[in-house]
Amino acid sequence: MPKPHSEKRFPPAGSTQEMLLIRRSSIQGKGLFAGQPIRARKKLGEFTGEGISVREARRRSREAKRIAIVEISATRAIDGSIGGGPFQFINHSCNPNVFIRIAYNRAEFYAKRNIRVGEELTCDYGDSHHDGRLACRCGSAKCKKFI
Ligand SMILES: [Zn+2]
Repeated sequence: MPKPHSEKRFPPAGSTQEMLLIRRSSIQGKGLFAGQPIRARKKLGEFTGEGISVREARRRSREAKRIAIVEISATRAIDGSIGGGPFQFINHSCNPNVFIRIAYNRAEFYAKRNIRVGEELTCDYGDSHHDGRLACRCGSAKCKKFI
C-alpha cells in the first residue's frame, strides 16, 4: 500500500532509527509517531537544528508562528525549525510518553514507557516559550489546559 504523502522517515528506511515517523497530528500540526514498538528508557535521538543564544531564542519565540526551540543551557539554545531533525515536530502532552534529558549542551529524548506502533510521541515542554498562553489539546485526563 502506498504511504501517505505527508509521512516522512528519518533517517531513510533500513536504518535502525526508522522508529520515528512524521505525520499529521490530532494535537497540533505535524507530530512525531512511533514507526516500531519502542521500549521504556530507549534513547530516541536528540534535538538538532541551528545553535543560537538564549537571547536570540527569546526574540525568535516572540516573532515566530511555530516555535521549535529548546534551551540547552543558561546561554545556549537550538532552533529546530532551521535545519532541524524530527524532534522539531514532537508535540506537548500533559501526560507524555517521552522525556527530555538536557545535559552537556544537548537535549536528548528517551521513552518514558513502552510505546506501541502508531502512537504519537509527546513530551512535556515544561516552561515553554509559549508562557502558558497556548491552549493545550493533548486530550489527556491530566491536561493542564495551557502550555
Ligand atoms: Zn494538555
